[in-house]
Amino acid sequence: MRRDTPVCEWDGCALAGEHRAPKAPSQLREYRWFCTEHARAYNRNWNFFAGMSESEVRHYIKGNATGHRPTWSMGAQTGQSGDDRWRDAFDDAFDVFGEPGGTGQAEGPRPAARRRFPPRVLAAFDSLGLEQTATLQEVRVRYKELVKRFHPDANGGDRTMEGRLEQVIQAYNHLKASGIE
Ligand SMILES: [Zn+2]
Repeated sequence: MRRDTPVCEWDGCALAGEHRAPKAPSQLREYRWFCTEHARAYNRNWNFFAGMSESEVRHYIKGNATGHRPTWSMGAQTGQSGDDRWRDAFDDAFDVFGEPGGTGQAEGPRPAARRRFPPRVLAAFDSLGLEQTATLQEVRVRYKELVKRFHPDANGGDRTMEGRLEQVIQAYNHLKASGIE
């Protein structure tokens, strides 16, 4: 570890923050620092952060946004592309995330009973920031949380989030119709 290595910025994590990540989709040239595991979690939730300001993203990784810590699990998913700008902005040492041609060693085992979904359902999980193993109940909880966040009535009339809100509603409808339980 270099002497100036910062501490991982994830809530409650004391590991070395050796991987940098853009602060928010709107701030790709400023960075936060994470340990390997939390850099992966952050990366996976990149689409979920779309439309959030830097402080909202920070709020979320600090686990304060909804009074509980983020519940997404690590290492259970492969082949998620995320946002290309993210790839460009992310620090090198990135083959831990299983870049094409990389070793992919850091990927965890695939869940045994992985469900198969059409692409738009997979994309729907993605836009709600959920793993594809999420239950319908988890989808509902996340949906409510996001509607609250992005609805103009709930965030002081800020209409800039309307596109995101629409995306969330559409994702929810796809997931409801997908037959998950
Ligand atoms: Zn960490």
